[in-house]
Amino acid sequence: MSEPRVIFHVDMDAFFASIAQLDDPSLRGKPVLVGHDGPRGVVTAASYEARPFGCRSAMPMSQAKRLCPQAIVVGVPGQRIRETSGALFEALGEFSPVVEPLSVDEAFMDMTGTERLLGEPAACAQRLRRTIQQRLQLTASVGVAPNKFLAKLASDHHKPDGLTVVTADAAEAWLAALPIGRMWGIGRVGEQKMLERGIKTIGDLARMDDQWMRNFFGNEASHYQRLARGVDQRHVVPDHRAKSIGHEQTFGEDLRQPDAVRRVLLDHVEQVGWRLRRRGLRAGRVTLKIRFGNFQTISRSATLDQLTNATADLWHAAKALFDQWASKSYRPVRLIGMSAGALDHGEGQLGLYDGATKQRNAQVDAAVDAITDRFGKRAVTRGGTLRPPKRDETQ
Ligand SMILES: [Mg+2]
Repeated sequence: MSEPRVIFHVDMDAFFASIAQLDDPSLRGKPVLVGHDGPRGVVTAASYEARPFGCRSAMPMSQAKRLCPQAIVVGVPGQRIRETSGALFEALGEFSPVVEPLSVDEAFMDMTGTERLLGEPAACAQRLRRTIQQRLQLTASVGVAPNKFLAKLASDHHKPDGLTVVTADAAEAWLAALPIGRMWGIGRVGEQKMLERGIKTIGDLARMDDQWMRNFFGNEASHYQRLARGVDQRHVVPDHRAKSIGHEQTFGEDLRQPDAVRRVLLDHVEQVGWRLRRRGLRAGRVTLKIRFGNFQTISRSATLDQLTNATADLWHAAKALFDQWASKSYRPVRLIGMSAGALDHGEGQLGLYDGATKQRNAQVDAAVDAITDRFGKRAVTRGGTLRPPKRDETQ
């Protein structure tokens, strides 16, 4: 029998909003919405003060402002997010070599077998939280569990500034009692449908038969069935060993406006670009994943002319795929995802040619800065203008 795994899920609390409040004391204690303040803007993050009003990330900005008219809307502090994220991942790397970033402020860590070195998982997680708090002046919530699915649910359990430990023995009962709304990927509409059918907890969902699951989840049925039963064998895969790097988001409600989806897609592209550059990886392929309210999921891929990790190149490819689909067959979107594949790991170079790698990274940074200069800061920061790089306009 294999030894039970110990997985941490680390998630910064309202990361973007907390950074804005840290940097501008006048925002502290007030409802803050981070994102693009336009008719089709989407909330990237809501401070904890805005949440009692119902404001959530991935919600249309116009809706959030209706719910909380006194909220202060601020743009995304891109540079500070990258800096702070760098410091976060440096800290995580000191606790485990197996860290899988999910976004700039969220990661899985495989802590299996670290007890002798780092102590009991609960104490270790507490120390990690203290380290983050001291270095970043920001709080993180951590979930500790035997697999990724449970760890992610656990980090959300006592948010913000929380620690939840779910042991292998307690996992089944703990999961079964959670409200159905906590299930990944179903959105608010999915939750409503389940409640109408009398499914109130994840335990209720776990008891539904195969046929029912197929009717509800389509070809995703067995995936959701396993998760509802707390079974998740997926490994924690650090970016430098990944076959692809992706980012996706499920919306509380289906997004009816293609522009709103485009803005979120740009966020994803930035996250993915950041992860590639961090690891010195380059991608040869871009894939979009689009899911609808009935869980039907489609994907669209394109091979890139050349390997790249520049946000502008990735965005150009992702936007072209999206526009191609949206112009012909747009319908409201529940989930949008973007991933970069056919990764070039630069094997044989890293380490041997450390100077060359450094130089290459510097060139990439310079390229990103140049794009920023040419197309304005908003071309490469979240929620910005969606104008593609100039050379695309001449093609
Ligand atoms: Mg977070």
